[in-house]
Amino acid sequence: MEFRKLAEAFEHLEGTSSRLQMTDMLAELFKDARPDEADRIAYLLQGMVAPPFAGIEIGIGEKFVEQAVALATGYPVREVEKLYRDLGDLGSVAERLIEKKKQASLVKKTLSITDVFNSFRKIALAGGAGSQNIKIRTLAELLNNSSPLEARYFCRIPLGRLRLGVGDPTVLDALSVMKKGDKTLRPELERAYNLCSDLGLVARTFMEKGEKGLEKFELVPGNPVRPALAERLSSAREIIDKIGKCAVESKYDGFRLGIHKWDGKIRLFSRRLEDMTSMFPDIVDAVKALKAKEIIFEGEALAFNETTGEYRPFQETIQRKRKHGIAEKVVEFPLHVFAFDVLYLNGRDLTGKPYEERREMLEKLFSGAGVITPSEMQVISRPEKLEAFFDDAVSRGLEGVIAKDLRAPYVAGARKFAWIKLKRSYRGELADTIDVVVVGYYKGRGSRAQFGFGGLLTCVYDGETDEFKTIARIGSGFSEQQMGEFRKTLDAIKVPRRPARVDSLYEPDYWVEPKYVVTVKADEITKSPLHTCGRDAEGIGYALRFPRLISDLGRDKKPEDATTVAEIREMYNMQKRISASEGEA
Ligand code: ATP
Repeated sequence: MEFRKLAEAFEHLEGTSSRLQMTDMLAELFKDARPDEADRIAYLLQGMVAPPFAGIEIGIGEKFVEQAVALATGYPVREVEKLYRDLGDLGSVAERLIEKKKQASLVKKTLSITDVFNSFRKIALAGGAGSQNIKIRTLAELLNNSSPLEARYFCRIPLGRLRLGVGDPTVLDALSVMKKGDKTLRPELERAYNLCSDLGLVARTFMEKGEKGLEKFELVPGNPVRPALAERLSSAREIIDKIGKCAVESKYDGFRLGIHKWDGKIRLFSRRLEDMTSMFPDIVDAVKALKAKEIIFEGEALAFNETTGEYRPFQETIQRKRKHGIAEKVVEFPLHVFAFDVLYLNGRDLTGKPYEERREMLEKLFSGAGVITPSEMQVISRPEKLEAFFDDAVSRGLEGVIAKDLRAPYVAGARKFAWIKLKRSYRGELADTIDVVVVGYYKGRGSRAQFGFGGLLTCVYDGETDEFKTIARIGSGFSEQQMGEFRKTLDAIKVPRRPARVDSLYEPDYWVEPKYVVTVKADEITKSPLHTCGRDAEGIGYALRFPRLISDLGRDKKPEDATTVAEIREMYNMQKRISASEGEA
């Protein structure tokens, strides 16, 4: 397929404000593609040349893109810079200059998607001395053969400014529509995606092997698994009523790791599926020492004092998330991993096995003392027992407990009642924090005018429609320093109008690409006609009462991993149940 077709699709995607149209356009695009092009399309749609966890960024700085444009068009760099100042987007600059040059140019090579993909891969992988030159020349070569429209994207892609707003679920829907004319294959496609986190691999497998290929899809060591997530209930009794006799585990407040060992390699992935291997050499050593040759397991890592048995506060654990000075922190805050699930062992995918069986294997695998031990667990069938286990966990500084259905398989990427969390709660405040996606921000007024920042418009994620629905405008919890930082970071991802997947009744001063997740606390969830989260036929949705920011922009979550509309609805119902039972008491 010619890249020209993809560039035209990009242009249409940019122009649409409807997710349905987006899906149809993408379905058409895939229809015309060969299987070995489908994966490339899937990556390029995200401005990538590999799945995100591979850590391969096309990355090339503005100055070098300017030089490539100058080289390809014959205009001096000064002129390119000037036009950039006027237009504010190097893609548009290249488009304009290639247009002007068009008449002068002679025969051009028609670029295929594969040509372009390979060139961007070459740019991404170039390293060491002379790599900048290779990057500039490779980009200039692409521009030399490009139409004005192609040039627009040739510059935006390596600068990370493609911003089409196409979510992974939308691509999965499009693949289903391509084959079936509707979205009925989304669950199968999603299952495969949750197991491998690689949209390109799913697209290619599906195009090559159809539905059969999806059915047989299994875990791939080295590819992070999208984590299984917990539902919530508000009391021990409700939990026992729901799943009966269950395994109750301590809920540790550290960070989740997906740990892979295969072919002599080891990789640690965060909850957001980022490769964290180099940050935790102490854990890598412990995994190396395991007898199992091939394994994927999950655990919560936290700073833990092995001698006193004390859990360190999250603020200390988080010190271990750093790119520099790792060796010193290994000594200062050694990590302990509480392993809580095993998904793959020596060539066998265990995700279909019941919890009970997986747990048995887990306990055998981590039976010794050391850096990795199994999470604390008790099989419990009575609410009073569960209550006592919970109280004990909380008194030792833990967050609460997670009850697990003994018969349930491991369902990647899903929030199910197979796991139910029970957390300690505070009076007058929601027990859970809420992760929201920033979709816009407000100019500062009054005392905040000097920061140019007055607050955020935020959304939760609607997994059914793959859209972001507003739930709160957040104006408190920001330090002065944060206000400046937020503005700077958000300015870099401003978009001229409401992104296609954002559903909002509010119009913030500036829209931004839904990219960053922040955590907020709130007093309660209320009903509101002003927000689109969970909006019913009468136009009433949910809002947060007194939302306040408690994190910065660097949360370890993707926008699609934010709290969902379904969770908010449940939290609202849970809140009603709690206040009713408090009324009775
Ligand atoms: P939270 O912010 O409450 O941790 P979350 O959205 O990250 O929520 P949930 O599915 O709601 O994830 O809660 C499960 C999380 O709890 C896991 O992602 C994991 O990081 C952590 N955790 C701690 N201890 C355990 C355990 N024993 N079993 C499973 N998960 C655990």
